[in-house]
Formats: sequence, C-alpha cells, structure tokens
Amino acid sequence: MLKYLSANYILPITSMPIKDGIIAVDEEGVIQGIYDPTSFTPTDKINIEKYEGVIIPGFINAHCHIELSHMKGAVPTGTGLPSFLSKVMTSRAASMKKMDDAMARADKEMYENGIVAVGDHANTDNSSKLKEDSKILYHTFVEVIGIEPDEADFKLKEAKLLTQEFRNGHVSMTPHAPYSCSKVLFKKFKKLVSDTNIISIHNQESEEENKLFRYKMGAFLNFYESIGKSADSIKAQARNSIQSYLPYLPYPNKLILVHNTYTSLKDLDFVERMDRDVVWCLCPKANLYIEGTLPKIQNFVNAGQPLVIGTDSLASNDTLSILEELKVLHKHFEDLDFLQTIQWATINGAVALNIQDEFGSLEIGKKPGVVLLQGMEHMRLTDHVKVKRLI
Ligand SMILES: [Zn+2]
Repeated sequence: MLKYLSANYILPITSMPIKDGIIAVDEEGVIQGIYDPTSFTPTDKINIEKYEGVIIPGFINAHCHIELSHMKGAVPTGTGLPSFLSKVMTSRAASMKKMDDAMARADKEMYENGIVAVGDHANTDNSSKLKEDSKILYHTFVEVIGIEPDEADFKLKEAKLLTQEFRNGHVSMTPHAPYSCSKVLFKKFKKLVSDTNIISIHNQESEEENKLFRYKMGAFLNFYESIGKSADSIKAQARNSIQSYLPYLPYPNKLILVHNTYTSLKDLDFVERMDRDVVWCLCPKANLYIEGTLPKIQNFVNAGQPLVIGTDSLASNDTLSILEELKVLHKHFEDLDFLQTIQWATINGAVALNIQDEFGSLEIGKKPGVVLLQGMEHMRLTDHVKVKRLI
C-alpha cells in the first residue's frame, strides 16, 4: 500500500520545488514517486492526504552531544567557552538513571522535531544502548582529548576501544578541538585512522582559541592550570588555530568543522587553498548561549563553501531542533534564502555524514523521513513556522 501525501509545496531539495506536488511513500518509508499535479494520473482510485504547508525530507542534525542532555540549564549563558568547558567538566557527573532519562527525552524531542539523523559526539559509551534502539540514525564521533603530549598514545587507544561500543557501522574517531589536543596527538591520530574515518572537530568557537595559537595567551592558559594540565608543549604560532592544525589532519578524510564563530576571511582563504573535503557546521543557538555572538555566515556563503547545521548539546541549548536553528539564522541574517538554508539542514548534512544514499532529499528509492513545515509565508521562514513529522 502506497501512501500519497500532498502540500502547497513539495521541496525535493535536489530538484526544483513542486507547487501542489504529490509524493508516494511505501510502508517502509521509501519514496516511490514524486509528481507534478498536472502530470499525475493515478490508475487506481487513491486517497491523497493533503496538508497546508511545505513538505521537506527529514532534517539532519550535524552536531550534538546527546550524553550531555541531563545538563540542560546547568550552565549559565554568556560565560564564554573556557568557563563553559570548566563548568561542564566539573558538573557533568550524574546518576545513570538521570542521564538515561534525559537522553531518551532528547532522542524523542529530535524525532518529533523531524530530525532523522544526527552526528553525535561521545566521550563515553553512555549513549550506545539508546542509539541502537532509536528510530534516528546516529553517526557517533568518539572524541580524543589529550592536552599533554605524553597522554597521546593512551588517549588514542582508549578512544579506539570506545568506537567498538557503537556497532551500527556509523562511528569514527575525531580530535575534540585544537586547544584540547597536542601536536603529538594530532600526528599520531593522522597515522592511526583510515581515510574513511570522518572527522568532526570543534573549530574557532572562541576568540581565546585564536589567542592561544597566535600568542600563547588568554583564558585557555588559565583553563589548563585549573584542570592541572601543563601548557609547556604549546608554542605561539603567529597565526589562527585552523591555519596551524589543519595540515596535521589526515587526508583525504571528510572534515566537519564545527562552530567557526571566529573564522576569518583569511582563514577561509587558507582552507580553500588546502583543497580539502571540508564542510562548515553552524550551531547558532549554542553560539548565542555560550559566546553571545554568531559566525560571519555571509563569508562562507560568498565563498561558496558547504554549510551544515547542528544543535550542539542541551548543555548549551534549550531545544534540539534544526528548525529553531534555521529561525535564528534567518532572524539575524535577513539576506539568507530559505531554499539555500534548507539544503544546509538536509542534503548537506547527509553528505557530510556519508548517508546521502538514504537521507537528505526526497528522491525515489531514498528513505529520508517526511516532514511538514506549517505556517510558511511563501518561501519565508518566520517565527510562526512549526514542524510536524509525517513519516
Ligand atoms: Zn560540540
């Protein structure tokens, strides 16, 4: 039995919007047909479910840390990144029950918000059971953290072991951030991983990160001291963080750079010259929560760079909703075109996580989830828009 769904617009994403279009979906959720109303001639008498709004494929949340879900509201807003990290490190402990309940709520929230796949960072195996049972597809990025060079071997071994706890075939290892990994660790990581290992690294989330790499100054030095780590191996590089560490990352691996709040035009030029498979992940609500500012989005758009969208965790957000992230982007950057940003939230995220064969667009043979956006004014995303999961 096929289900026929129609709305004011169907947005297949990888092809043009279809006014009053119709899609046919089978019982498994696989798309079996996409039709223009003028050429739609069903042979049998069929029932079409008609909706007010715009039908899109399911959202891809390219960046989350579901294991921090129990920390919702635990860290105040506006602390800046180094203080935020200290607070998360000192207060993330909780009972397994509390963490499990919070993760289950977060998973359900994402599902209902039309999210079909998530790029999710992990430091523990706390989320492995939830991910196995979930209706959402999780790609787990096991983080490696090692500030002192001596820790590198042990930390890499530990992370490698942790990858085995996530058994759905969508798991990779990733350096957590430029400020939390020594140069030695980066170099050993490069030797260790295969070229299919997708990397997802927090990048330039705070200006303090650039200060650390340029001058070996700023709040990260205090942060290291507070957690008893030596900064002896760090040397001032006279250039921003990304220009220092990018050459250490393995090639030709896919690279997701997360946040990019303090990425300059010069940094962008540098990355373009490296000619790598890079996507830039925006987490606007988390940026406003922690640093009170947003990346210079127009620079990435003008440079034709691929963008994706993430929610980050509930430690730095009050929702796990890609629609809410898009609303914030459109509110702050009025020039943005919804037909472009919806690609960031769907197909670009699917390509970044290497799941575009199934997700990211309404195409025959894919099983991308089907989501309705209600309250759209033509193709404009306003605060009133709501998401309803259809499939
Ligand atoms: Zn993050």
